[in-house]
Amino acid sequence: MEVDPGTALREIDSQIARCKRCKLGMGGAHPVPGSGNPHASIMFVGEAPGFYEDQAGLPFVGPAGKLLDGLLEVAGLSRKDVFITNVVKHRPPANRDPEPDELEACDDFLRAQIAAIKPQVIVTLGRFSLSKFFPNVRAMRDVHGRALPTSDGLTICAMYHPAAALHQNSLRAVLEQDFRALPMILARAQSQPATPVTVAQAALPGVETPPEQMSLF
Ligand code: SF4
Repeated sequence: MEVDPGTALREIDSQIARCKRCKLGMGGAHPVPGSGNPHASIMFVGEAPGFYEDQAGLPFVGPAGKLLDGLLEVAGLSRKDVFITNVVKHRPPANRDPEPDELEACDDFLRAQIAAIKPQVIVTLGRFSLSKFFPNVRAMRDVHGRALPTSDGLTICAMYHPAAALHQNSLRAVLEQDFRALPMILARAQSQPATPVTVAQAALPGVETPPEQMSLF
């Protein structure tokens, strides 16, 4: 019998709340498992909780979150339509980048969330999230806003992290343009089964090494 996505997510949340698989869960950080619609067609995956997210236990609630809300609006969406999470579920100290052992330790939770929600499109926000699916892509500028199908039937859409636009204003327009294209990417993903990306198809201009797709399951 198939488990209801909401029930599955609550179980994942409670496992994250108890998790000490990596050092991020051993300090005083609060768990930030993710939030949104368990039946969402689009899932957003960011990098890691920051100060405000750690305080609230919710993803993207600080200044980058406010920007994300505006970008969702550009796409005709709101938080109740989507599910938002991060690749690691506890805040790294002083907002440093997540380390390889932390990314690996937290991987099962992201996989479990994807398996529960079964989104058609996953929007990766930033390079850590993109590298979960396409570890060899070097430059975001070459892939952002593009739909990249995986052999698991998912469509990955790479985007800059909203926090990057807080520091570099020119990225705001790029993000808006990419979010404007999201409804079309979702409609395409829903209307046709995803064709797995091949190395030849993925030889994107300016990408030194073609994106090598990583299977999710
Ligand atoms: S970051 Fe992930 S793996 Fe590390 S303690 Fe938190 S939930 Fe567990």
